[in-house]
Amino acid sequence: MNLGTSRPQSMSSPFHFVNRFTRDLPADPELTNERRQVAESSYSRVRPTPVANPILIAHSEEMASELGLTQNDVLSGQFVDVFSGNALYDEMDPYAMNYAGHQFGNWAGQLGDGRAINLGELETPVGAHWTLQLKGAGPTPYSRSADGRAVLRSSIREFLCSEAMFHLGVPTTRALSLMGTGDKVLRDMFYDGRPEMEPGAIVCRVAPSFIRFGNFQIHAARGETELLKRLMDFCIRTDFPHLGEPSAQTYLAWFQEVCDRTADLMVHWMRVGFVHGVMNTDNMSILGLTIDYGPYGWVDNFELDWTPNTTDAESRRYVFGNQPQVAGWNLAQLARAIYPVVEDAEALGAILKTYASRYELGYQQMMASKLGFTWFDAETDLDLISSLIQLFSRFETDMTLFFRLLASVDPNAEPAAMWEAVLPSQYDEASGQASAWSAWLSAWSARVLKDEAGASDGPRIARMNATNPKYVLRNYMAQMAIDQAHEGDFALIHELLDVLRHPYDEQPAYERYFAKRPDWARNKPGSSMLSCSS
Ligand code: AMP
Ligand code: MG
Repeated sequence: MNLGTSRPQSMSSPFHFVNRFTRDLPADPELTNERRQVAESSYSRVRPTPVANPILIAHSEEMASELGLTQNDVLSGQFVDVFSGNALYDEMDPYAMNYAGHQFGNWAGQLGDGRAINLGELETPVGAHWTLQLKGAGPTPYSRSADGRAVLRSSIREFLCSEAMFHLGVPTTRALSLMGTGDKVLRDMFYDGRPEMEPGAIVCRVAPSFIRFGNFQIHAARGETELLKRLMDFCIRTDFPHLGEPSAQTYLAWFQEVCDRTADLMVHWMRVGFVHGVMNTDNMSILGLTIDYGPYGWVDNFELDWTPNTTDAESRRYVFGNQPQVAGWNLAQLARAIYPVVEDAEALGAILKTYASRYELGYQQMMASKLGFTWFDAETDLDLISSLIQLFSRFETDMTLFFRLLASVDPNAEPAAMWEAVLPSQYDEASGQASAWSAWLSAWSARVLKDEAGASDGPRIARMNATNPKYVLRNYMAQMAIDQAHEGDFALIHELLDVLRHPYDEQPAYERYFAKRPDWARNKPGSSMLSCSS
């Protein structure tokens, strides 16, 4: 099956497609991409809209090889055609998902894949399942008033961050490819009434499943209980098969696992300093993956009240430190959505309660390991962590630099020498800074020495370096890659992809990225301020 008129050949694919979502769940009977409300259906079949002049800007070698693609496959014209939406393999069955969501705490009704088109689900020879999805491939029934396209800047950000998160060990959707479309897209980047034409792009996202909390919410909100149950059963059978056949018990075990995975994801985000920016319920993966990279950001200076999203600048709902709590709120909305099938409010409530405790426990263990301790000792560590966070708010401190440098601090050294070692993490000089930090470092070193009881510090340093990344996708780094890409130079995209492939390793050639955010980036649009316009 082919979309363009110039390429009439039928194309058999290098993949084995199984397409369980479209095979097992009910489709919208209408086949146009006209905007509409879609009832009693899990998805609408829709084809990508061809683009003018696609080029492959970058791809993930790791993702390609996971899918069984060789370098030659990726560099072929067919790859460009398929992953820019200009051609389809015969076995693909493209569709847009129907889902709803709470946006910024308010019920928003039907949302759906407005610019994402799922091409199909494949099974690899080792039995892994991956759904291929194009983001920015043209309008769907769920596009509302928007164009179904994506701009280059946000596509670069999504492509790089998906793969960076994967290499950091943070659960995430993946990115196979980044294509330029050759078409222009009109965007009002700052919502200030000055729209501009921008280059368009398409990312091929890849995940075992793209089901979101909002997929359940849409059926619940419309009273489609039968369909809600079908979707729950489908999700359990395909993505949680280890839980067994769907039953009253299985539904609860499933909700428990979703809560657990979500708690674990929040611990990861807090560990690496990632701020999602738009944690609406339609942006919450049922698999506990980071999904929908929009106006996300990385904290440079550790600040719990920071958000990169200018749309959220006033309500500050999705700031760094609020993410775990918001995820809990989102889980409560999921519980409400699945209640008509589960019909056991008490059990759902009890499971919801475990979310907070799992998060808290995970957070404590995570912080203990960031600080180099083998276990969390409530007697000393609660104080140590809260006084550290107070220091972060008193003295502007780069989170990534601080934790990474801490591993190089000799706990037997004088306080002044310890302070010298972490000094490069400080953005400013302030009075009282040296003595406050030296006092904290003395307490920290006493705790380390108690933990190690004379053992060598090699294992501690290795442990700390395995949990405290040296390289993250700082906002200004992505912005520099975007600025250069707008000039037609994609080299920095490839360089960043390369450095972020080994975020925990020493990479002397890339030492320049182990540095504080440069001053010019402090208040630069794209580096510290982003909107949802993408
Ligand atoms: P997001 O804030 O990216 O999660 O998007 C919220 C909703 O708006 C989802 O239903 C998206 O599919 C839709 N959406 C966002 N951008 C576009 C666009 N350019 N064209 C069509 N739909 C869009
Ligand atoms: Mg979304």
